[in-house]
Amino acid sequence: VGGRLAKQDIYERDKRHVWHAFAPHSEQNPWVVDAADGVYVTDLEGRRYLDAMSGLWCVNAGYGHERLARAAYEQMRRMPYYPLSAAHTPAALLADRLCQWLGGDYRIFFNNSGSEANETAFKLARQYHAQTGQPGRYKVISRYRAYHGSTLGALAATGQQQRKYLYEPLAPGFLHIPAPDLYRRPDGMDPLAYGRSCAEQLEQVIVWEGPETVAAFILEPIITGGGVIVPPPNYLDEVAAVCRRYGVLLIVDEVICGFGRTGKNFAFQHNAVQPDIVTMAKGITSAYVPLSATAVRQDLYDAFKDPADPYGYFRQVNTFGGHPVSCAVALENLALMEELELVPRAARMGDVLAGELDRLYRHPNVGDVRVRGLLAGVELVQDRDTKAPLAADPVKRVIAACKARGLIVGRNGDTVAGFNNVITLAPPLIVQEPELAFIAQTLDEALEEVLGGR
Ligand code: PMP
Repeated sequence: VGGRLAKQDIYERDKRHVWHAFAPHSEQNPWVVDAADGVYVTDLEGRRYLDAMSGLWCVNAGYGHERLARAAYEQMRRMPYYPLSAAHTPAALLADRLCQWLGGDYRIFFNNSGSEANETAFKLARQYHAQTGQPGRYKVISRYRAYHGSTLGALAATGQQQRKYLYEPLAPGFLHIPAPDLYRRPDGMDPLAYGRSCAEQLEQVIVWEGPETVAAFILEPIITGGGVIVPPPNYLDEVAAVCRRYGVLLIVDEVICGFGRTGKNFAFQHNAVQPDIVTMAKGITSAYVPLSATAVRQDLYDAFKDPADPYGYFRQVNTFGGHPVSCAVALENLALMEELELVPRAARMGDVLAGELDRLYRHPNVGDVRVRGLLAGVELVQDRDTKAPLAADPVKRVIAACKARGLIVGRNGDTVAGFNNVITLAPPLIVQEPELAFIAQTLDEALEEVLGGR
């Protein structure tokens, strides 16, 4: 579509009629993206860019896989749609496969987006407590700097004020605790002691609120959209233990971290934790079609059953949730990822990426480089002693300098709190070593160009 129209034509129509969540109409650098293959996207003028963000952290298997397109085509021919008021093959096989990836016995509720997956998790958590005789447990705790979605509940769980204040009041009953920021932990504090102290903060909030009012704690194993904040290694184990102690359900948001991104199927698998609920989206289909899922531990699901309703009653219908085409593509995507061994590969290539990015420390404005698998954040600071965040403008200029050299990177943080200073990387898991070298080299040059004289 659009292949024969001139760039200006598309661009003008877009500028007039498309409401973007981002800002593609910057005067210096307007672009119309048109095609994609492997780890590269191409614009309408034929310029090629290495997409080191996998779109929005989601094209995990990379662009241009013929067999994913074929899976969609074949499912459309066979049965393009039927709701999950019946069982169908793609959803049944996918749910089963997801349990293998999760390493546990789960019940899967399908939706279309990450936001919906989290909304579903919150509703299920509240209903679970009601079904087990604790209807007063409704509060959901999350962390500042986290992002959990755009809808009024998922946005309430989000801990970035700049995304929220225009839309308040959001869903009530959401509380926040500080994020575990290893880079800015108290001077000289042992990382494991810091991990324990973060879990103690969670415990204090649960106790002060009254455990009998708290339904769930939601977290991403690594806060991605808030600036790739990698917690201390014991953090997840410690907070999971607190949740268990107080009967608070642990919801792990694997929307970005899942499907191999951090070098495990799911990032919670770096720890000895089996979450109560896991939410996933994006990489589940490598973004070829929309799909999300909320996985609930089978023993929790059992609480939803009553003799009159042996299948569990959850009052939520989603027209396209578990869409057969999306499920067929997801199934093929997981098979492809297994055949190409992309998950262990992400762990190996993550080590290569970490080695390559080491060179960035020659820039005094590079405060911290955090890498977990093929997920990385480069935190830019005014100076290393104060760790004061670099202002948004030079960070934007570094990103533009990357783009001018054919590299797309991301930027994340929290503008209200003054942290919008992390350059993010999440290349497709098929990325090759020379491409990782190109990413590091290009960032190095861009930092030199923008900040070299400072
Ligand atoms: N959770 C996390 C961690 C996310 O990063 C996102 C989206 N970036 C979401 C939830 C929401 O997903 P969606 O945009 O598909 O609603």
